[in-house]
Order: sequence, then structure tokens, then C-alpha cells
Amino acid sequence: MPPVKYQRGEMVMGRWPGSSLYYEVKVLGFDSKSESYTVIYKDGTELELMEQDIKSTAGFLSRSRSRSRSPGRRRSGSRSPSRTTRGSSRKSTALGVAASTDAAPSSVKDSKMKDFEEDMLKTNANVEPTPDRNQHRYNLRRRRDDSEKKERKPNLQEDSNRNTVVSGDASTPLDFGGKIGAYFWLLFLPAWVLFMILQGDLEDPSLVNAPPPLPSLDSLWDYQSFGFVVLWIVFQALLYILPVGKLSEGMPLRTGERLKYRTNGFFALMVTALAVAIAVHEGVDLTYVYNNFLQLAVAAFLISVLLSCYCYGHSRNANSEQLALGGNSGNVAYDFFKGRELNPRIKNFDLKFFCEMRPGLIGWCLINFAMAVTEMKLHNLDSPSCSMILVNLFQLLYVLDGLWNEEAILTTMDLMHDGFGFMLAFGDLVWVPFTYTLQAFYLVNHPNPLSPPAAAAIVLLKLIGFYIFRKSNSEKNTFRKNPSDSKLSCMRTIPTATGKSLLTSGWWGVVRHPNYLGDLIMALSWSLPCGFSHILPWYYMIYFIILLVHRESRDMSECKRKYGSAWDEYCQTVPYRIIPWVY
Ligand code: NDP
Repeated sequence: MPPVKYQRGEMVMGRWPGSSLYYEVKVLGFDSKSESYTVIYKDGTELELMEQDIKSTAGFLSRSRSRSRSPGRRRSGSRSPSRTTRGSSRKSTALGVAASTDAAPSSVKDSKMKDFEEDMLKTNANVEPTPDRNQHRYNLRRRRDDSEKKERKPNLQEDSNRNTVVSGDASTPLDFGGKIGAYFWLLFLPAWVLFMILQGDLEDPSLVNAPPPLPSLDSLWDYQSFGFVVLWIVFQALLYILPVGKLSEGMPLRTGERLKYRTNGFFALMVTALAVAIAVHEGVDLTYVYNNFLQLAVAAFLISVLLSCYCYGHSRNANSEQLALGGNSGNVAYDFFKGRELNPRIKNFDLKFFCEMRPGLIGWCLINFAMAVTEMKLHNLDSPSCSMILVNLFQLLYVLDGLWNEEAILTTMDLMHDGFGFMLAFGDLVWVPFTYTLQAFYLVNHPNPLSPPAAAAIVLLKLIGFYIFRKSNSEKNTFRKNPSDSKLSCMRTIPTATGKSLLTSGWWGVVRHPNYLGDLIMALSWSLPCGFSHILPWYYMIYFIILLVHRESRDMSECKRKYGSAWDEYCQTVPYRIIPWVY
């Protein structure tokens, strides 16, 4: 690894993207992986610069003195940092303009001109970075808009027209129905899980039936079930902290820092599978899971509530830059639901990452397996039914793929934008393991024989969905990791002002969220083995359509905010959101 030349806190001269102009910047940190420095300009703009785009201030001052003997003799044609020299600006391609001019709005450019006039030193006017070089060398971060901050009062301030609440630091418009919505979801989500589990136990389960009678409180609570859930989470936590597997870096935070995550999920799944196999061999009866499904779900729910309370309390000590923009509204219920702190950690133990990838996802496979064992025992079968095998294998493949590509979660919305509160804690610990398993749960008591051609057709559908899902996610991940990867050389892209580009060919040229399309096709293949007698096993498909349509619109607003006109251009080039010619 090359030595770090510039230290954190050091004032140096940094080149402005797309130009040959240098400004005084402060070094915030060095990323050894990309070998780039995170620097901050005086107006708050943060950039990642390579070493060749940084010069020491001392060298500049001596050159400056030798060139301009008096301030009066300085060139008056000071340019904004984003402007290139006259000759070269004519040569700039669209990409060059995007990476330079659009990178700073005019107000920023003006203030920069003022702030940096004294520091600005023209070097070699003929040196014009090529657009492609620009694209890879600079990563323009979210500007800290000082003017916006000044307008805000330090305390809670509400803008009722925009349904936006801001407290102290930046925040974003309220989501999920705002404050009222938060109360609704806090009550509705647990009630809905309870309702579905009770329905699954009925002989004629249907979501359109009247709700079954509420069980007594006594029957909901079971010490042993609670103990098993705690044990399960502790076991997964131990596997997570083992120094096995890669330490991956997350996306840069608002502070410029990049957190490290132990991505050993696949290893955790393998160890868990071995432990379960030994336990079954030793006589552990997995039908316990089926017989105590409700009690286990209630225990997981209580743990998710305790965890959300802990995270809310923890967030009170977090500084404003550690808070998620979307959960920093000042309203207790909303922030509790949405999650205040972006990455709550106990030392290096990342609660959000752990919950997203481990107890729920691996628990989902264990519960499915337990349902298959129960089906065999209840119906005296030598092997699980074909439908049960398909549901188990399809969902196992999904989890295996997620854990094998665990690093990819670091670029998802949950990890990058959402705080860790009730929404994610409940989602990870209760929703995923106890509702995604409803198809297997349903099949235990509602067998659905499949003919070989029907089974083959369902397998084909699953493979098509999986192919689209994996290929599109890989295209985007490869592109985000290394835009000049040779595998993507024939891809068309649209440049954006942030220095990142948007793919417009391959799967990302078919629809704007091809990964959602693949996911939906897979969801369909999970429900089909359960037949059409009841709506309950189709709940996942229905819920998933709602989730992904809502998620797509959230992502649209976020991308529009990040990429502005480039995003509009992308939407014109790729008009359909998820399903070609339909939506
Ligand atoms: P994506 O992985 O689709 O990420 C969206 C981001 O991708 C955008 O914010 C943007 O971020 C980038 N992007 C958008 N368009 C382009 C483009 N044309 N070229 C390059 N980059 C682009 O979204 P999610 O995080 O929602 O989903 C991740 C996966 O998880 C999906 O496969 C989804 O189906 C799955 N999922 C599964 C769920 C389940 O319960 N089973 C729930 C939710 C998601 P930027 O430009 O900043 O990189």
C-alpha cells in the first residue's frame, strides 16, 4: 500500500473536477481501497480526489508569489471553480460539462468565486481532463447547503405544506403517511402478522374471511419460545463476530467515513446448517417450530420492540451526522418507527447490518425446513411433497444468493438511507421469518399435488426470474464498483453531475428496476406451488407488488434529488419502471 501523503485535517490545494483550477481544501480522510482522498471545499462540497489532483499549499504559495507580484496585477477574469478555460470549455463534451458545470449550482459557483478568488491559481490551461478520466477520478458528494442550514432554526420547525419536519440537521419529507401513518403502521403491522398466522392454522384460510377469534394472552406467551428466539439471535451474533470472512467497506457516510462490515453470512448459514443437522440427528424435534409458530412470532416481536427502544435511546447520543435524513423529524412516533440513527453500533457490532442479513434470513430457511419435516411427520411421508420441496428450494436459493453476495446489501436503500428503528427491526426479525414462510406453513395442512409438467413450468419461471434478478443486480454492482470494467465496455450510460453515470443498456435499459422485475417473477414462482384454492399463500405476491411499487417511487424521488436533469433524461430513455410496456 502506498504511503498516505496528506494527513487528515491538512490544508492542501485540490483540483476542481473538469478544470485545471486548484482551490484550498481540507483533507477529511484517505480511502486505501480506492486510494483516494476525501476533501472538503470551503462551501462544504466534498469530493474524492486522487493524489495527482492534490498539491501541497506550500508549493502553490511560492508559485503564486513568483507569478503575481501584487494583487492589483492578478488576472481579473476569475472563473467559478466549475468553469473551464475558454478554449477547453468549447472542447468539452456533454459529459465534461456535466461533470464540471452542473456539479455546482450557480449560487455555489458565485460563493465559491468569492471565497476562493484569493486562493485560485490557474495552472496549465491546456490541461483538460478527458471526460472519462473525470468520471472515474471524482466522486462529488452531497453538498452541505449552508444557505439552507442558515434558514433553519436550531429547534424543531415544521413546514405543514410540505409535510416536512426538520430538527437541527437536514431531514427529508415524511414517508409512510407521516406522523399519523407511523401510529397506524406501529399497530397494524403486528396485528397483521398475528392475523395471518392465525389464518394459516384454519382449515379454510382466506384473507377475505372474518378474522379468527383472538387467542388468550396466556396462549401467546411462552417462556421456552422466548428463550429459543433469544438463543437463536445470540448464536447468529456469535457467528457474525467471528473473525472469519471478509471485512467489507460500506458506502461513504455524510462525514466521509466508511464503516467496515464483517461479510461472513454464507459461512454463518453453513455453520447453522451443520448445527441443525447435528441437532436433528441428536433427536431435536423440529415440529416444535410448527406447533409454537405463534409463540415464536410473539417472542420475536417483543425482541424487535425492545431493540427499537434501545436504538431510539442510543440515537439520543448520536450527533446530527449520524442520524438518518428520513428519521430525523422530531416526532417521537415517526422517528421510532422510521429509525433515527443510520448505523447504530455497539462497538463494531452493527445492529442494522446484522439484523438485515442474519437472524431473520437464516431463520426463514430454518422455519421452512421445519415445516417440511412437520409435513412429513403429519402425513407419514417418506419425503416432503413436491410443492413443499419447490418452496423450500426456491427460497433457500434466494437466501443463499443474498448471503453469497452479502456485500451487495451495502449499496441498498436500507443500508444507505434508512435509519434503524421499528420498521427495519420488526421487518427483519418478525416480518421476514414469520410471513415469508407462510407458503411452507400453509402447505403443511393444505397439500397441493403438482403434475410434473406444472412443476417443470414453475421451475422454469423461477430460473427466468432468478436470471433477471441476478444479472441486473450484478450489472449495477459491477458498474458501481468499477465503471470502466471491461465486462461493461459495450454499455451505454448517461453522465450525471455527481460524477456517477446511469446505465441505459443491458437490463437497466429495459426497465428502471429490472431487479424488481426478476424478484416479482420469483415471487410468483413461490406462490404457484400452493395452488389457487386460497389467497393466503398469495399474500407474499400481493404484498411484494405493493412494497416494490412504493419502494420504486421512493427511489425515484431520491434519484431525482441526486441526479436532477440526468435522471429525467434516464426516465425518457427508459420509460417503464418495473414491467416493460405495462408499468
Ligand atoms: P436497487 O438495488 O435497485 O438500488 C437503487 C439504486 O440503484 C438507485 O438509488 C441508484 O443508486 C442506482 N441506480 C438506479 N438506476 C440506475 C442505473 N440505471 N444505473 C446505475 N445505477 C442505478 O434497489 P433496492 O435497494 O431497493 O433493492 C436491492 C435488491 O433487493 C433488489 O433486487 C430488490 O428486488 C431486493 N429487495 C428485496 C426485498 C424482499 O423483501 N425480498 C425487499 C426490498 C428489496 P446510486 O445511483 O446512488 O448507486
